[in-house]
Parts: sequence; structure tokens; C-alpha cells
Amino acid sequence: TYIIAEPCVDVLDRACVEECPVDCIYEGGRMLYIQPDECVDCGACEPVCPVEAIFYEDDVPDEWVPYTAANVDFFDDL
Ligand code: SF4
Repeated sequence: TYIIAEPCVDVLDRACVEECPVDCIYEGGRMLYIQPDECVDCGACEPVCPVEAIFYEDDVPDEWVPYTAANVDFFDDL
């Protein structure tokens, strides 16, 4: 799955939402989240993010690794 990290906070540009073919990017409070069970790993969202907030799960920078769990937890808590 792809992960949305800290650069999205308070930005919520939503360019990724337009690109996602399976509509698995959801708005939640101060940022957007990718539903990991729905993401098909197409990568379409990553290059359109103006703040480079989107990463493949294995490529999330160390300081933002907690966002991997945050994306999952967001949907677990719904
Ligand atoms: Fe949607 Fe593809 Fe991005 Fe997954 S990788 S969130 S399916 S655009």
C-alpha cells in the first residue's frame, strides 16, 4: 500500500484523490489517508502530490514511519 505522511497535514491538496482509480483516499481531520485494504499499489497518486507526502510503504522516510500505522489506525477506528 501507499502511505500519506506529515507533509499532507493542513495542506489536503486532494490532487491524489482525483488520480486514484479506486477512490481509496479519504479525508480525515487535518490530512488525507489511504485505505490500505483498498489501495491497489498503482502509484498514480504519488507524483501528483504537490508536497511529496505520498510514499510506497517500504519507502517511507524514517521520521515518518509512524504515519504508516496512522493510516491503518485511521480506518480501524472508523
Ligand atoms: Fe490510489 Fe493507486 Fe495511490 Fe493506491 S497507489 S492510493 S490505488 S492512486
